[in-house]
Amino acid sequence: MDKDQTRQVRRQCVKCGKCQTVCPVFSVQPVEASAARGKMALAEAVTQGYLDESDVYRNYLETCLLCGACEEACPNEVQTLSTMLEARERLASNGGTKLGKKLILENVVGSPRLLDLAMRLGRNFLGLAFRRIPAESGIRRRFPLPLFTRDRTLPSLADNFFTDRYKGQVNSGSGPKVGIFPGCMTNYFYPGTAEGIVGLLKKLGASVYVPEGQVCCGMPALTGGAREIVRKLACQNLEAFEKYELDAIVTGCASCGGNLKENYGGLLREAGVEDQRIEEFTSKVFDINEYMYRFSTPDSCEDVIQKEERDIERNKERNKEKLVVTYHHPCHLNRLQGVKAEPIALIQSVPGVRYVPMADDQRCCGMGGSFSLEHYDIAKEVNDQKVARIIETGADAVVTSCPACIMHIRDGLSRNQRGDIEVLHVTELLQRYDCEKQEVGKAWDSGTRRHGDTGDSEKIPCGRLSERAGESGGGRSVHKTQNINRGLKPADKRDYLLLFEI
Ligand code: SF4
Ligand code: SF4
Repeated sequence: MDKDQTRQVRRQCVKCGKCQTVCPVFSVQPVEASAARGKMALAEAVTQGYLDESDVYRNYLETCLLCGACEEACPNEVQTLSTMLEARERLASNGGTKLGKKLILENVVGSPRLLDLAMRLGRNFLGLAFRRIPAESGIRRRFPLPLFTRDRTLPSLADNFFTDRYKGQVNSGSGPKVGIFPGCMTNYFYPGTAEGIVGLLKKLGASVYVPEGQVCCGMPALTGGAREIVRKLACQNLEAFEKYELDAIVTGCASCGGNLKENYGGLLREAGVEDQRIEEFTSKVFDINEYMYRFSTPDSCEDVIQKEERDIERNKERNKEKLVVTYHHPCHLNRLQGVKAEPIALIQSVPGVRYVPMADDQRCCGMGGSFSLEHYDIAKEVNDQKVARIIETGADAVVTSCPACIMHIRDGLSRNQRGDIEVLHVTELLQRYDCEKQEVGKAWDSGTRRHGDTGDSEKIPCGRLSERAGESGGGRSVHKTQNINRGLKPADKRDYLLLFEI
């Protein structure tokens, strides 16, 4: 953003302070520079030459979860997120990134082979520096380590990484060709989530692929201001997925999905990739909630009623002991991708599960990627607020759709002596309650939808689920591109079905 654009943003900001009222960081550290208004003023002062890019400036700029709550709440539609991200990029290009972070971004995040090697070495030597705490299924450091505090519970690296076990074509079905983008955290720490996605896609009759050559989506580098690294990773991912000529690309990571859908367009364009290739790639990306919601829900209201009657009979016993669950909206799924109603509808469709909403369910959990490593003191307090809301619901489990949120909320519950409350990815819930066939698998069973049958697609606006889908359109989302809210209207869905006619 140049000086003129910065001035324009400044003029757009009327200094009302609304962004402070919703900012999780401001709630913990109530100083002007914590919230968007203050950060933008600092960034503007630097752009205008009134202020140096000092360590203090960098610290305030980086003390932000990039949750997007400020942009969503701003009555003047100020683009706070892109302003703050651009300020970070400018800082990085002027050599303002801390040396350690710069080395990690350039040599680990930006180098897929080194990242993989680091994870393999880490798995072998983890026990030397961390001890397992079986009750909470996590690990804690044995002795003082930079970035890891004594009371922080972390996930252990998986014994088997997802992409070691699943490569290339992993299932042959009569449905669409669907590729999985697990993302680093799921691959290395929570492979069960990606396996759950494989299982659900199999039930839908899809041909499932895990394209080889895929790399980190680059989100940590993007938030660290290292845009050139993300550009390189975006090109590698584009090439890896293009080879398979897929109909859809599915991920269970809110941050990866948000990055692939929302940021890859601009990044690939900067790298000189043609618009058509970009559109073909980004328009195929779906979060697993979105995908399951579109292609696994019943066809008509009659189906819903019949299904519910069947379920009541079938699940009489199980329904007596309902699992009470609540849901936390990951910022990168809710605000960046506009996917809000789908996970709730999926949860509510699982027999034997009772959904209880929590207060402030769209408020950030405090993770913010590397934010929680660099500013754990703030991340912990924001997390405690989230944990209090979870406990208030009396739920047995909290469901969410982002591996980073899972990690952070598990840590918060463990620290607050509530490790008994489970933290599940939505795919784990769907898999655990084996809601196949009754709940999923219908979309592709007959093959009619696969071929874009018009009569069939007319039936799509099913009463109960469609009404909920409408909720996703409520409120202003932070997302910028047309990829958002795809599938929430019947017409869009018909459009999407055409994809599979090819
Ligand atoms: S809410 Fe928007 S207009 Fe108000 S102070 Fe914040 S950025 Fe400025
Ligand atoms: S993105 Fe979130 S944490 Fe950052 S200033 Fe806005 S509301 Fe605060």
